[in-house]
Amino acid sequence: DLSHGRILYLEDVSVSFDGFKAIDHLSLDIAPGELRCIIGPNGAGKTTLMDIITGKTRPDSGTVYFGSTIDLLRHSEPEIASLGIGRKFQKPTVFEQLSVFENLKLALKTHKGVKASLFFRLDSGQSDRLAEILHTIHLADSVTRQAGKLSHGQKQWLEIGMLLMQDPRLLLLDEPVAGMTDEETARTAELFLSLRGRHSLMVVEHDMGFIRSIAEIVTVLCDGAVLAQGRLDQVQADERVIEVYLGR
Ligand code: ADP
Repeated sequence: DLSHGRILYLEDVSVSFDGFKAIDHLSLDIAPGELRCIIGPNGAGKTTLMDIITGKTRPDSGTVYFGSTIDLLRHSEPEIASLGIGRKFQKPTVFEQLSVFENLKLALKTHKGVKASLFFRLDSGQSDRLAEILHTIHLADSVTRQAGKLSHGQKQWLEIGMLLMQDPRLLLLDEPVAGMTDEETARTAELFLSLRGRHSLMVVEHDMGFIRSIAEIVTVLCDGAVLAQGRLDQVQADERVIEVYLGR
């Protein structure tokens, strides 16, 4: 068992673009149910790392496993999504004309691979799950609200809810609190802490206050490899980390 019980396991992964090593012998793993924060200066390779996990970018070498049995390098991007890896990009992409409820319902339909249509009935398990997700994403009072009328933060939560409808084992989130108010940021921290356990999360973020409120282990990427890893206070005290943030 290569993965040693990890939900995500990368070993010695490298990828170059036109001779430039964007990811350089990177090794990283995530435990089931863990909430991992990834930080690092611009160009460190954070986006490329997410692209590799989701199958958008193929590494030149290395190993990428999901759980103990799934070799992600053997799967296409849509297959990886249906295997249970959900990705949220920085900008929210919800169906603005539709209600909160309809957005969540459609997210389920898309997953089942059926042509998107609102004219289908949820079974009772699906209805229960939808109701549970509405509470989790702080939108239980906005079920019938048009998604386009939500605040920026609420749209981000709705999109997370749409991913949750597909019950992913691993969620990858790119700068989830960018553009949020302080209150929305605090409620997003609450949301992520409630997802941890049932789901594993990998969060790329620059907002140190937010990271402090959610972080267990923080991984610092630099020049395409892991520069430091540990509790936030530990990595923030690390000379090499201080240097890449202040010295460049
Ligand atoms: P981060 O998300 O940490 O800012 P990226 O993963 O976007 O870093 O980029 C890492 C490095 O790889 C950067 O120097 C970037 O310019 C380069 N890079 C990323 N994707 C490509 C690409 N498709 N073609 C060429 N260079 C790329």
